[in-house]
Amino acid sequence: MLQPVFTLKLRHKINPRMVAVGRYDGTHPCLAAATQAGKVFIHNPHARSQHLGAPRLLQSPLESDVSLLNINQTVSCLTAGVLNPELGYDALLVGTQTNLLAYDVYNNSDLFYREVTGDNVHSLALCDFDGDGKKELLVGSEDFDIRVFKEDEIVAEMTETEIITSLCPMYGSRFGYALSNGTVGVYDKTARYWRIKSKNHAMSIHAFDLNSDGVCELITGWSNGKVDARSDRTGEVIFKDSFSSAIAGVVEGDYRMDGCQQLICCSVDGEIRGYLPGMAEMRGNLMDTSVEQDLIRELSQKKQNLLLELRNYEDNAKAELSSPLNEADGHRGVIPANTKLHTALSVNLGHEAQAAHAELCISTSNDTIIRAVLIFAEGIFAGESHVVHPSVHHLSSSVHIPISPPKDIPVDLHLKTFVGYRSSTQFHVFELTRQLPRFSMYALTSPDPASEPLSYVNFIIAERAQRVVMWLSQNFLLPEDTNIQNAPFQVCFTSLRNGGQLYIKIKLSGEITINTDDIDLAGDIIQSMASFFAIEDLQVEADFPVYFEELRKVLVKVDEYHSVHQKLSADMADNSNLIRSLLVRAEDARLMRDMKTMKNRYMELYDLNKDLLNGYKIRCNNHTELLGSLKAVNQAIQRAGRLRVGKPKNQVITACRDAIRSNNINMLFRIMRVGTASS
Ligand code: CA
Ligand code: CA
Repeated sequence: MLQPVFTLKLRHKINPRMVAVGRYDGTHPCLAAATQAGKVFIHNPHARSQHLGAPRLLQSPLESDVSLLNINQTVSCLTAGVLNPELGYDALLVGTQTNLLAYDVYNNSDLFYREVTGDNVHSLALCDFDGDGKKELLVGSEDFDIRVFKEDEIVAEMTETEIITSLCPMYGSRFGYALSNGTVGVYDKTARYWRIKSKNHAMSIHAFDLNSDGVCELITGWSNGKVDARSDRTGEVIFKDSFSSAIAGVVEGDYRMDGCQQLICCSVDGEIRGYLPGMAEMRGNLMDTSVEQDLIRELSQKKQNLLLELRNYEDNAKAELSSPLNEADGHRGVIPANTKLHTALSVNLGHEAQAAHAELCISTSNDTIIRAVLIFAEGIFAGESHVVHPSVHHLSSSVHIPISPPKDIPVDLHLKTFVGYRSSTQFHVFELTRQLPRFSMYALTSPDPASEPLSYVNFIIAERAQRVVMWLSQNFLLPEDTNIQNAPFQVCFTSLRNGGQLYIKIKLSGEITINTDDIDLAGDIIQSMASFFAIEDLQVEADFPVYFEELRKVLVKVDEYHSVHQKLSADMADNSNLIRSLLVRAEDARLMRDMKTMKNRYMELYDLNKDLLNGYKIRCNNHTELLGSLKAVNQAIQRAGRLRVGKPKNQVITACRDAIRSNNINMLFRIMRVGTASS
């Protein structure tokens, strides 16, 4: 069993995800971590710092080898790295909600302290995604997407089912990811290799070659204190360990200064363990059981299961032989060999007591009954699985299962259906997989011109109408009797979620118009068509009057927040000058023993301090509002991009950003509408 090569217990709590190892003097690796109450501690087991006593860095009263850095604001992120190669040592970077501090730990001085505006990015990683020797930027967003940027252009987008909380490069084009719902996994380029989902949260992921086979494993630190190392190829656990509290961070460094990198895991309670990669004689076998033992255990379990199954078959066959005519009382166990299972997906428009939904109908081909259905599907059910077991009185040869996917993404439904007879104690299990089409939450309805949405996208594709019909039938749940004629035609759908209308019209010329007030839906449809028809570049004309008007209001607000911010900053500067002069005057009065004047000055100072605190609160609120608005603007730009494909998509995003930068609002809306800045 792989044992830690060192264990430390620091008397400081560590904030999750805020741990970094750096060589702040260029030689000795030190662990830095954010702790509650706006402090960062730096653990330096190698050399006493000779630079104590200066403004920020103070010796910890609890431990001699720990220094504390006062940030005075809640720390939101922390990392270490080379900022200036000429210095030859790492800088410590500490982020708060409003500021970024770059700190020179060795000289105990600020390198810079800047005000920054955040974004809705949760995770970043650098990885050579396309294998050209240069790294691309991977960005995990709040809207469940992993985006790959080459320079300023998005070259790939992968949609996940939850917020992406962490990304880490593995090697080559392979990278690990973690979601807020307890999922971790590995991608190679756009293809997902494997994933697992836990009911715990993945606090930190890190790539590290723990079994010394030359390939990194994905190391995950979990909220329940577990750490596991999984094979990059299969997700199989090759090593695990357990801490008494949640893991705060997983990092690596040569903490013993012996020339070997250690995997370093820290818990929120300040427990730190370092692991060296397994030695050659362990042959990659890091856990206490040997591979052979595991294999034997696994095989004997399989044998047990097969024996049990065989015995069940034998018992059933015996029962059948002893009472072959006794079918009516349902004592049969074995179902007819020709029993088939049918599945059908359709739209159910619901009624008063039940909202509209997509529906999966499973039925058997004879008088057998369905005892239970297990469905495994990503992102539809809490916990990813759903069990349907009709009560004894409602057992029949078919079940209807309502399904309401929250987002328009195609989902594989993995089904296990238990089929038998009413009084069976054993059931035959049918396993099969059905794909729920991407737009299953839209019902084909008859057009109602009065409610036709004003918003639209318009584009031309060089495809025959039959191919568009094929795309429709693969991506929507069309009724069986749907018979769409040749172009020109139009189809109308109603959203089962909000009743919104969706029109898809195709002209003889190949011109397609989609009417919907839902800009995300329009984007999804365009992206879906583009991948179905293998369209590389698509320019689209669009108008979303209501959404654009909302956006215009947000942009006006952004301007207001900016000017309030400037005014408040100027006020604060004035007030700090005033404070300085009041202090000097109060001190003068004290020296002159004029206690009355001194008291008055200090009263004024007290009032001014109150004003300043109030001003700061207003500034904070203003900042939060500003962030919210900027997020909405950024989202609008992404949405405008998603209405296009390939080069036009990147052009729209770049041109929109330029328009924002030059504060040209009319230009911004022009680009969002026609897809280009030039007229
Ligand atoms: Ca590359
Ligand atoms: Ca390895």
